[in-house]
Amino acid sequence: MPKQQKNTDASMDKIVSLAKRRGFVYPGSEMYGGLANSWDYGPLGTALKNNIKKEWWRMFVEERDDVYGLDGAIIMNRKVWQASGHEQTFSDPMVECKKCGNRFRSDEVGFPNIKEEGMSEVFNYPKCPECGGKSWTVPKQFNLMFQTFLGAIDPIDRIFGEWEMPSTSYADHEKKKLLRAEIEDSKIYLRPETAQAIFVDYKHILDSFSPKLPFGIAQIGKAFRNEITPGNFIFRTREFEQMEIEYFVREKEWEKAFTEWQKEMHRWVKHIGLDMKKIHELEVPDDERAHYSKRTIDFEFDFPFGRKELYGLAYRTDFDLESHEKASKQDLKYFDEETKEKFLPHVIEPSLGVDRTLLAILCSAYREEEDEKGEIRTYLSLEPYMAPYKAAVFPLLANKSDLVKKAQEIRKETQGKGTDFVPVAFDAGGNIGKRYRKQDEIGTPYCITVDFQTLEDDTVTVRNRDTMKQERIASKLVHNFIRKSLKSL
Ligand SMILES: [Zn+2]
Repeated sequence: MPKQQKNTDASMDKIVSLAKRRGFVYPGSEMYGGLANSWDYGPLGTALKNNIKKEWWRMFVEERDDVYGLDGAIIMNRKVWQASGHEQTFSDPMVECKKCGNRFRSDEVGFPNIKEEGMSEVFNYPKCPECGGKSWTVPKQFNLMFQTFLGAIDPIDRIFGEWEMPSTSYADHEKKKLLRAEIEDSKIYLRPETAQAIFVDYKHILDSFSPKLPFGIAQIGKAFRNEITPGNFIFRTREFEQMEIEYFVREKEWEKAFTEWQKEMHRWVKHIGLDMKKIHELEVPDDERAHYSKRTIDFEFDFPFGRKELYGLAYRTDFDLESHEKASKQDLKYFDEETKEKFLPHVIEPSLGVDRTLLAILCSAYREEEDEKGEIRTYLSLEPYMAPYKAAVFPLLANKSDLVKKAQEIRKETQGKGTDFVPVAFDAGGNIGKRYRKQDEIGTPYCITVDFQTLEDDTVTVRNRDTMKQERIASKLVHNFIRKSLKSL
């Protein structure tokens, strides 16, 4: 048996290459030269992502009686983003290199932090990371929300069409005014976070369910940010998926709820099999927190490219409900029947990214070990309920039709039916060693081989992914064996 385990700290190159080779993550639009930092999830990435979302939803919505699920629209009334402050302040400072034209976040290339536009003259300009140039545009706040236009007419086309008519003549300042009015009328945004849909529907949930405080509203969905410099594979992308809860509490109970959610987040990272040695809590200092937040903890993870934010837990006070109450002129207060008080609840927000979770899972599960022949075996030591397939069934020889037929039957039997169903792969390609290697790399916990003895006594060999130990069991017991392995964790 092997066992020289080495290099469990996977490099990004290895993760990215395995992800592509085995169908987890493909570069987006690759056949047309790609699109800066967009990625597509392949069959196995989709399965893993679904498993992450399914576990999160089960743990934090279905198993609790105080959390309500929601699936809000991505495109919302623009007034939502005015009330939430995103339209005015959701921006990063951007500079452009005058020599090569590349754009960067000014703080990332070494400009001092700017709160307002412009900066002091006495400053030693940093070098452009792309071309080494030192000639920059003035740093400007760049809003990160993607904008588009609502309606069947492109406002820019329409206004240009009007200007081009021979009968019209506008002065430049009039043109600017008309263009601005036209755009402002139909401009909308793709949501930069899922949280606002929760605040907007909070009143509906009060009316439909009369929940008692504390209670939460949970949502999984896509959000969009026009990041100036995305990067590090699926870590920072312009389109990503969030799993968020807004948990509403009485003001005096915020600290208790905050601590509870802190524990819940630990339970979660342990549950999904993240390497706990790589998880760190960072208490975000006063001057780095969002202005409305009184306490924020970042859960950081040691990615191969450094220690970076994985999740956030924030106490958002009653900032959001108050802003929406003011802007919408709707009464968003909660009525406490016992004390007869009316007030705005305060909010604790555990915020998790699906894509970062998937990357942290791949980084935690990646293993390489040397076998006795000195060959490297790569495998993903995924928790069985995270693995895309829970088992794979092989006929020992692909050219023996009775073995193939038997293996197909056993695959069906192993999958089970209805609520007992578990996804099971079938592979008859290449030699058995290659098939093991492939299943190891996609994290399949068990490989089941159907051989000539199976035809005589209905037993099969079951090989464990991590230990490579094999045992022989009756084929009709395999389904329960697999299901038990899912439960035991
Ligand atoms: Zn440059």
